[in-house]
Amino acid sequence: MKFSVLSDSLEKMESTTKRIELTDILVELLKNTHASIISKVIYLIQGKIRPNFEGVELGIAEKLVIRAISKSSGITTKKIEDDYNDGGDLGKTGANILRQKTQTTFTAETITLERVYDTLLKISKLEGKGSQDMKMKYISSLLNDATPIESKFILKILLGTLRLGIAENTTMDALAIAFTNEKSNRELVENAYNVSSDLGKVSEVLATEGINGILKFTTSLFSPIRPMLADRVKSEDDAFKKIKNDFAAEYKLDGERAQIHKKNNEIVLFSRSLENITRYYPDVVEKISKCINANDGIFEAEIVAVNENTGNFLPFQELMHRRRKYKLEQAVSDYPITVNFFDVLYYNQTDYLEKPYMERRKTLENIIKENNFAKLVPMSIVSNEGDVTESLENSINSGCEGLMLKVIDSPYRAGTRGNNWLKLKREYQNELGDSLDLVVVGAFFGRGRRTGKYGTLLLSSYNSESDTFPTICKVGTGFTDENLDQLFQILSSKVTLKKNPRVESTMEADIWFEPELVLEIVASEISLSPIHKTGLNMIRKDIGFALRFPKFTGKIRSEKSAEDASVDEEVLALYKNQKKSEMN
Ligand code: ATP
Repeated sequence: MKFSVLSDSLEKMESTTKRIELTDILVELLKNTHASIISKVIYLIQGKIRPNFEGVELGIAEKLVIRAISKSSGITTKKIEDDYNDGGDLGKTGANILRQKTQTTFTAETITLERVYDTLLKISKLEGKGSQDMKMKYISSLLNDATPIESKFILKILLGTLRLGIAENTTMDALAIAFTNEKSNRELVENAYNVSSDLGKVSEVLATEGINGILKFTTSLFSPIRPMLADRVKSEDDAFKKIKNDFAAEYKLDGERAQIHKKNNEIVLFSRSLENITRYYPDVVEKISKCINANDGIFEAEIVAVNENTGNFLPFQELMHRRRKYKLEQAVSDYPITVNFFDVLYYNQTDYLEKPYMERRKTLENIIKENNFAKLVPMSIVSNEGDVTESLENSINSGCEGLMLKVIDSPYRAGTRGNNWLKLKREYQNELGDSLDLVVVGAFFGRGRRTGKYGTLLLSSYNSESDTFPTICKVGTGFTDENLDQLFQILSSKVTLKKNPRVESTMEADIWFEPELVLEIVASEISLSPIHKTGLNMIRKDIGFALRFPKFTGKIRSEKSAEDASVDEEVLALYKNQKKSEMN
């Protein structure tokens, strides 16, 4: 397929923000795409080349792209940087520069989608010495043959700045319409996505087998399942308002969620955001098979750092010492862990998602052989507020965060946050108190003790509908000197020349970052703001939400991707809750 078929559709999508129009353009594109390359189109429109969990990243720096544009156009890097600084994004700037060139020469050959995709895949695999030069050559060779519009989108995909507002939801609508002619089949498409986390694979099955293929779609080992998430409740009373019958109260441990896939002795671990994290836990790979009395299975567990002598749980931050490339062996022995199982999603070649909670728990109890390393998360059945309070006290006293309250006859609802799981933390019982997970998008330079570091950070929530990061506050408190050093180090590798186009901000930060790092933040209140963009127009026209007296809790949420940050609806819910408490 000609790459121009895709780039022309992307150009049309870029000129609208209306979901219906975006869906129509996408449906048209999907209908014109052969089944053999449909998954490639699906990845590319999301600015990716493989599903997230495979960890294939392009990660091309702006500097390298500028060099490639220079090589293809003969224009100096200085001039390209100046044009880029004058406005637009680098994709557009590159296209304009290359347009001047194509007016004097003509492009050598038609560029195909397969060629662009394969080149991007090759680029993503290059590493080590000489890889930067090779990447530059590959990029420049594509730009030599591409038209300006094609170049613009190739550059945007390479830079990770393709921003079309096609969230996963719109893609699933379009898939249902294009291949089944019925938008109502969207739910079936979503189910398939929830158990595979791979819209490319889902699209391939739809394009070749239609809806029947999707109906047969099941969980498979080593393809992560999108996690079930919990709603917050503020008190025992609140919980009983949401769940009428008895429910299970499990300790809410403060660690890293891991989805453990096992086939005989082969073990793969996925994080909450479905990143493959197996390499950080060689001890789990080595020991866990012996603790699981099953040949195959998909399990969920919370990995928690422990004090080796007392066995007590340690806070989540301790685990993050393992997120390193070098000297991992040392970290494994310095920061021992336990694996605390709380669910089974697949076992004995059987899908367990539809089975009720209690049956899954019993199965888990039969399979897991507990020892110092592997444990079952403590659970009790609760039938009144007193029981919940007692469990909550016990959980907090054991160093846990609170409770997860689970409806005993509920199936596992992959990829959804709802009332079948509720989380009750001690901190929710106080004022607004709940923490938010926010993305660092910019910073302001520090003074005094913080000279040479970032003194204040600009933070954003996530808007899943528009796939953007609207700002919500600046934060400058809660940082220890150690935090400041650590954040400076992490953020220095994420600096961009300009604000990322997915960041929505009226503020001008001193420095901008790729929206990637997620921090846990508490605040005294949520107020209405004409400056910040989170929840814009949700309460009043042109007004968003801001946090009052925000403070960093000390937790860097490295297990969360930016798209897992708190969403606008969560901020709205907290705002409404706060209003309710004010009225009481
Ligand atoms: P939080 O910010 O509270 O960790 P989250 O957005 O990561 O929330 P939630 O579904 O809201 O995800 O909260 C559940 C999280 O709590 C899980 O992702 C998991 O890491 C952790 N957890 C700890 N103990 C349990 C348990 N017994 N059952 C389920 N999840 C648990």
